[in-house]
Amino acid sequence: MTAAFVTRFAPSPTGYLHRGHAFSALVAFEAAQAAGGRFILRIEDIDRTRCRPEYEAATYEDLAWIGLAWEQPVRRQSEHMDDYQRALDRLAADGLLYRCFRTRREIAEEIARAPHGAMEVFRGAPLAAEDEARRLAAGEPFAWRLSLAAAARRLGGFDGLAFVDEGRGTVPARPELGGDVVLARKDVGVAYHLAVVVDDALQGITHVIRGEDLFEATHVQRLLQALLGLPTPVYRHHRLLTAPDGRRYAKRDRAETLRELRARGMSPAELRREMGF
Ligand code: GLU
Repeated sequence: MTAAFVTRFAPSPTGYLHRGHAFSALVAFEAAQAAGGRFILRIEDIDRTRCRPEYEAATYEDLAWIGLAWEQPVRRQSEHMDDYQRALDRLAADGLLYRCFRTRREIAEEIARAPHGAMEVFRGAPLAAEDEARRLAAGEPFAWRLSLAAAARRLGGFDGLAFVDEGRGTVPARPELGGDVVLARKDVGVAYHLAVVVDDALQGITHVIRGEDLFEATHVQRLLQALLGLPTPVYRHHRLLTAPDGRRYAKRDRAETLRELRARGMSPAELRREMGF
């Protein structure tokens, strides 16, 4: 029997969790509890250069501290690269991908030059066969990008594409806003959008509950579901928790971590209260 409600929290172990993570995890966890459903924790660690075992261990510790419980075994993306490769191969076989050899710097320069900004740059085109062969032979690294033009041809346009957002209702998907996204990074071999879509389907996720900051990602992911023939979950994009100064909590701003809160004697109950649970 498949559960009617399966949701997940999917952190990347690239740092210690802060209040923003705790909020997101609790929103998903409590939704699963309220629905009598399942709560899954997934470790999104495809980027081996940024992820660290101590952050992953701390993730488990911190989530247990705030009172969460999740199903075992936990899926770690780094152990399932074959699954993502299969999806990538399928998109490639369908003619939906192209190689992009541009460096970050070249892309930044192109954006600066483009009269209409970033969109033009990321609506790229495959290189001429000769040029591509030369770069491949020279061993130049490349990323695989999804061709929006090819995807639109394949689906007869994006008009029929939509997803249910619990706050907004039925939302027409606008994957073109994100441009030709990278689906396989030069360094890592797979990129975020592809791994997420494959895992949400493999894990039978019925409800994706995550922050409003990922709303645009949902449009891209909806397109990938259509191209890969995968089911589309219901989406809920929750508000982002903000600090007293109005800014959202973020790793890069060195937001106080859950470990630090714990070390200075805050209790999980206090933290939950403070966040409005
Ligand atoms: N791993 C992503 C992050 O840390 C979240 C992915 C998702 O919820 O779809 O932001």
